[in-house]
Formats: sequence, structure tokens, C-alpha cells
Amino acid sequence: MPQFAFFKKQFVPLSEARVGIMTHALNYGTACFEGIRGNWNGDQGQMYLFRLEDHYRRLLKSCHILKIRLPYTADQLSQITVELVAKNAYEEDIYVRPIAYKSSETVGVRLHNLEDDFFLFVTPFGPYLDADKGAKCCISSWRRIDDNMIPPRAKVTGLYVNSALAKTEAWENGYDEAILLSQDGHVSEGSGENIFVVLDGNLVTPPSSDNILKGITRDAVIQIARNELSLDVVERPLDRSELYIADECFMTGTAANVTPVVEIDRRSVGSGKVGKITRQIQRVYHDIIRGKDAKYSRWCTPAYPTKTKARNKKG
Ligand code: PMP
Repeated sequence: MPQFAFFKKQFVPLSEARVGIMTHALNYGTACFEGIRGNWNGDQGQMYLFRLEDHYRRLLKSCHILKIRLPYTADQLSQITVELVAKNAYEEDIYVRPIAYKSSETVGVRLHNLEDDFFLFVTPFGPYLDADKGAKCCISSWRRIDDNMIPPRAKVTGLYVNSALAKTEAWENGYDEAILLSQDGHVSEGSGENIFVVLDGNLVTPPSSDNILKGITRDAVIQIARNELSLDVVERPLDRSELYIADECFMTGTAANVTPVVEIDRRSVGSGKVGKITRQIQRVYHDIIRGKDAKYSRWCTPAYPTKTKARNKKG
């Protein structure tokens, strides 16, 4: 099946969506992006895009910080995405990647006096971390970049060198994921996930002032915990050693969904097994993202009008 991208304001075969080697964003990391999951519901023959417009609202805020002007609203970007996802017609979980970037083919580090552009592609995407067994994490030797260096609340491509350094260090040392501390030593987040702990029955997660990306999954989990599990959720600075004594820990993100953390720095988290609250949140979240929970249908945008046969199947 052919794959399509949205590139230079039109839908084109993916193989034709190419940027030149002088592109500013490629040379200097001057782009903002999002990761959006499409969750396949086989029973309904439907692809549900999770919190689509919220992702585009965040993208436009990132663009504002990076002085990228797009000729689209969040609503228009959502419509383009639905159209592209429908054209690609996958029948498995997908990842949607929009990028707004400095597209001028010119040399010179700056944000001003440059052209901006936008592209979008879709790719099949299974589980990122093992959400059943849970992840083994380490505290990274790399610190989370600070708001006054590159603002982490903006999802800037160049910023992800920080995450890539931490992720590969963790992986080479036999861990599944890295947890980064802020400059002053508070827990910030994973390389591509927000982090939560259960401490004395409360759910605790670092605040945005500790240089996190304010995750859309993080927000969903906070709402689920409060509204469905009647838990107290506290956003406050979290010490490294609180991770060691937590009863439960999990990570949230578009790629990771809700992934339990069962070990940190070679210390088991709680019993070392997936915690009860983590499992409950996982279950509720899992149903919501596949469009199985009517109460949260506002979070799920269906991308396919009706079930058709000629769709991109796995393998
Ligand atoms: N932190 C970082 C650094 C990330 O890259 C991501 C993934 N976008 C997250 C947190 C989680 O954000 P979200 O739930 O919006 O995917």
C-alpha cells in the first residue's frame, strides 16, 4: 500500500517528501514537533486519534516560543491529520508526527528572517516500553535542560539531544529508561515520559517548574486518578530518594502510554511488581484511548468514516 505524507501544503507519496541538506531546522534543530497516537479498535474498524486538538494547541505554543508562524489553526491541523490518517488507512496502532520547522535553506544561527513550513507523516507504532512487565530505570548522569537554556515546555527538536544522550546511556548500561534530574537535583522526567509515584496513597508528580514537558498523557492520568479513582494528585518537587521509597512508580507518554517502573537504580520499587494503583490507571486509560469509554469520547477523534477493506495491514 502506498504511504502518504503532508508536505509543502499538499498530500504527497511519502517517498517524495524530502528536504534539502541546507534546511535550517536540519542544521540547527530549529523545529517543533508532536507525537500523536492513533489507537486501532479492531471491533469497530476505527482509528482513534488521542487528544488530537490538544496536541496541536501545544504545538502552536511551542511554535510561538520558537517564532515559527503556521498558516493553520489547531482545528485546521486536526482536519489535515484526520485526512492523512484516513489516506494511509492502517489497521494497527500508529504514531503521527507533525513538525513545524524553519525551512529556509540558508546558513546562520537565528530564529528571525527565516521561512517556516509544516509537515506530517504517519507510521505504524507498537508498544514503546514493556507496559506489562514494567521498566527498569536509572537516574541519568545527564541533567534535564533548564527553561533558560532551551524551554522544555516547547517540544523543540534540538532539545531532544538531551533525551537521546540519557536514553542511550541508560540502554548501554542495561536499563530500559532514564530518569533525568533538574539542575537543582529534583526529579524531572524520563527521556520521553513524565513520571508519577504513589507515596502514602497519594499520586505525586513533578511540577512544570522542574523542566518537564507538560504531557498530555500526564494530564489525562491526573484527571483519571482524580475522577475515576478518587485519588489526591499532588504536583510538587520530588526528591531522588523519594523514588527509592515510593510504593509505586509509573511513566506516562504518547509512546509509553502508562508504563510501570519496577526498578530504579537497582532498587525494587515497592514489592518490585506492578502496583495496584498503576494497574487500575492503566486499565481505565487503555479503554479510553481505544474509544471504549463513552465518558471520555471527547478525547478520541475517529479518523475513518466507515470500515473499508483496502487498508494497510501489518506485515
Ligand atoms: N516528556 C518528554 C520529554 C516527552 O518527549 C514526552 C513525549 N511527548 C512526554 C514527556 C510525554 O508527553 P505526552 O504525554 O504529551 O506524549
